[in-house]
Amino acid sequence: MGGFFGVTAKEDCMFDLFFGTDYHSHLGTRRAGMALYDPEEGFEKSIHKIDNSPFRTKFEKEANSMHGKYGIGCISDYEAQPILVRSHHGSFAITTVGKINNANEIMEEILKDKAHFFVMSNGEINATELVAAMINQKDNFIEGIRYAQEKIEGSLSMLILTEKGVYCARDMLGRTPIIIGKKDGARCAAFESFSFLNLGYTTERELGPGEIAVIDPDSLKTLVPPGDKMKICTFLWIYYGYPSSVYEGVSVEEMRYRCGQLLARRDNVKPDIVAGVPDSGTAHAIGYANESGIPFSRPFIKYTPTWPRSFMPTMQSKRNLIAKMKLLPVHELIEGKSLLLIDDSIVRGTQLRETTEYLFENGAKEVHIRPACPPLVFGCKYLNFSRTNSEMELITRNVIAELEGGEVTDDVLREYADFNSEKYEKMVEKICEKLKFTSLRFHRLDDMLEAVGIDQDKLCTYCWSGKE
Ligand code: SF4
Repeated sequence: MGGFFGVTAKEDCMFDLFFGTDYHSHLGTRRAGMALYDPEEGFEKSIHKIDNSPFRTKFEKEANSMHGKYGIGCISDYEAQPILVRSHHGSFAITTVGKINNANEIMEEILKDKAHFFVMSNGEINATELVAAMINQKDNFIEGIRYAQEKIEGSLSMLILTEKGVYCARDMLGRTPIIIGKKDGARCAAFESFSFLNLGYTTERELGPGEIAVIDPDSLKTLVPPGDKMKICTFLWIYYGYPSSVYEGVSVEEMRYRCGQLLARRDNVKPDIVAGVPDSGTAHAIGYANESGIPFSRPFIKYTPTWPRSFMPTMQSKRNLIAKMKLLPVHELIEGKSLLLIDDSIVRGTQLRETTEYLFENGAKEVHIRPACPPLVFGCKYLNFSRTNSEMELITRNVIAELEGGEVTDDVLREYADFNSEKYEKMVEKICEKLKFTSLRFHRLDDMLEAVGIDQDKLCTYCWSGKE
């Protein structure tokens, strides 16, 4: 995924930039960076790998040595950023969040002008550098940003640090948020709205889809107004948004309670306890327990002191092992009990199968699984979102291929995604059998959208429905 934070202040902004960026650490595990502009000293930037050590540890030195009044920072799951560019627009630093599906086509077009791109160690070009090159294609800076926003297939939001302020551009359909905060003598822009609260900022407003704005310590100016159409990512509330965040006026934590509440209303099992798979499953489980009257408890607890969320090996085999090692059972709450367990979603199913086995090994009588969203049937086309990008690894795809005897078309997949269809019933039965759950019932799409509570046309549901 990735996340970013930008700030403009009358005094040095390093402290705010450091903590504001750090509060986005749950959104990425690979790289992080900061760029600052100071009227006396100009631009400077620093980038580190964060795959084996958290942001705060890696940037401790910079927190004391870098200075500036304006800055941007990011947590990135892919390319190294922010990048610092000198062009006919002057100098600027840029950081991005999103996914460019037509990157090769755009690159070829730019290369016709005898330009060049640096190649990263994996052989790809840096997506943020590509966006900077697109901006530089136009005579005017704002036109350049607009050109990039319109040309990119997928989605792309960006923060650009200049001498005049931080330019903020939200992707055309607002799949990811940009929220503006303000306090005396400073303004900031963030992916996560909670990231600036402890720094003394209050929310000024959220940018609309496709909006381009510029912030400085005294003002927030819209340069290109927002469009009418929005498709914000529903997964923000279900899984990867931080519980204390608010998007489109809807609190993540409260949405998760409603989500669990609606799951409970349609259920008919009577387990002894309701539990959530930490972290995001917990809030959904609280909602379920409150609605059903079945006690919430924690049959396994995450060992957090030495396993911060950002410390996650990138190899899949190790990830599963680490996920298991982080969980510690409370044997007394498991033995002889019937448990209902809520996870945010089922992707490959491997971890949830292992968790279920682990509960049975610890004496559980029954393990009923209730994912807080519908079955994931399609890969995400719009964000670099590792959970749903490799669609061929989705358990739904494997099961559908088995049921259909091979590869299937998108139309057939959509039939399986429809919770009123027989195909859907068969798919759910098969997943339950494969993963060895006592019972399995996914959240319904309509209930999940009701739990968000905003106009449903404004929500992206592609990975569940296959509909754009
Ligand atoms: S496809 Fe799914 S993960 Fe991707 S933007 Fe849409 S709702 Fe979010």
